[in-house]
Amino acid sequence: MLLRSLVCCVKFRWVSEGIRHAGGYLRAADQIRSYRGGSSSSRVVPGSRAWHTVDLRSDTVTEPGEAMRSAMAQARVGDDVFGEDPTVNELQEVAANMFGMEAALFVPTGTMSNLIAVMVHCRERGDEMIVGDLSHLHIYEQGGSAQLAGVHSTTLTTMADGTFDLEQLESKIRHGYPDVHYPRSRLVCLENTHNIMGGRVLPVAFLQQLRSIADKYGLAVHIDGARLMNAAVALDVHPSVILKHCHTVSVCLSKGLGAPAGTILAGSKEFIQRAVRARKALGGGMRQSGILAAAGRIALLDMMARLEEDHRNAQTFARALMECSPPLYHVDLASVETNILRFGLRNSGLSPTRFCELMEEVSEEEVDALNQGVRVLMFPHVGGTVRAVWHLGISEEDTQLAIKKAQFVAQQFHLKSVRGR
Ligand SMILES: *Cc1c(COP(=O)(O)O)cnc(C)c1O
Repeated sequence: MLLRSLVCCVKFRWVSEGIRHAGGYLRAADQIRSYRGGSSSSRVVPGSRAWHTVDLRSDTVTEPGEAMRSAMAQARVGDDVFGEDPTVNELQEVAANMFGMEAALFVPTGTMSNLIAVMVHCRERGDEMIVGDLSHLHIYEQGGSAQLAGVHSTTLTTMADGTFDLEQLESKIRHGYPDVHYPRSRLVCLENTHNIMGGRVLPVAFLQQLRSIADKYGLAVHIDGARLMNAAVALDVHPSVILKHCHTVSVCLSKGLGAPAGTILAGSKEFIQRAVRARKALGGGMRQSGILAAAGRIALLDMMARLEEDHRNAQTFARALMECSPPLYHVDLASVETNILRFGLRNSGLSPTRFCELMEEVSEEEVDALNQGVRVLMFPHVGGTVRAVWHLGISEEDTQLAIKKAQFVAQQFHLKSVRGR
């Protein structure tokens, strides 16, 4: 309910789909090259790039629509390094209120935002942070916290629901400090929703328990909430209900919320004062960034309401994969909580990479059988799975087209393997 009063339901014109480039995931560039390459069968219809494309690679492929572009064009701006950009200042205020934090800072990317948080919380070289072993911070950020901030990481085993064991957490805290052998534990990082685990929402009770352990040992808690709004929508709570259990949060405006760039880092006033310094040192002090903040403001205020639609489409697709005949897909429906779906392939003869090629190709058989040609883009993912992500560029109709394609691929694969015997 709170959530509904928070968002205003401006109808948003969906962006047109198109060929877009990778969002920066595991070996993404290589994988795109490998399944865009010429390895497909001779029956592929030439010029297939003209076919309708359903791009499920990432929610980073969204493009700003009319309302966002016109807000950007009309934004009042100033020099934000001087703190004089009114649009940036307004966005930061809106975000701080929405997240229940004292202050917020507009930063260029989620990666920089996480790094700033690590730098500010772990202020001495050799300080240590505790982080999930399958978190974005640990896997996809090039070890920036070690490379650039001199911060050591210790990892916890990530569970299927994106949480970790709190006894393991307690055991990893450096109880021996200040003995000269040990670094000093300063920070615990969480991820909500959890990207690699397939958009899982961390239970609020987990956050609560974790916070009480952190308080006991004087550790800070940072949430990488790149998709925090998806978690709030899934739980139907105000974002601040989740965020009251952490000290700082990073929320991407450029994922499902649809802004072209930008992330919000939020925390206490003192934290943000230090964060402004760290952002400048990292080269993230932008000047007339109100042009971007204007899009971010719409992302935050108007785009949250439609995330539910992405969650519903992901569910619909997941269910269709489960019911697909002949069975090819392995789906755990209970794990589909937000806009990210991870699924497996039951047949070891079909690799995730080859499957993604088949989803992308348009063959003569497809055009004959379905009277349509649809390119569906997905990425092979961690642990031999395939990942599909819903976002504002994907309609219900697109989802239905992708379902048809997935059923067609399963039938064709079945026919070919029967013939091949
Ligand atoms: C995308 C993402 C980031 C990084 O955001 P960029 O803006 O791409 O740097 C951080 N954490 C998670 C969980 C993400 O999904």
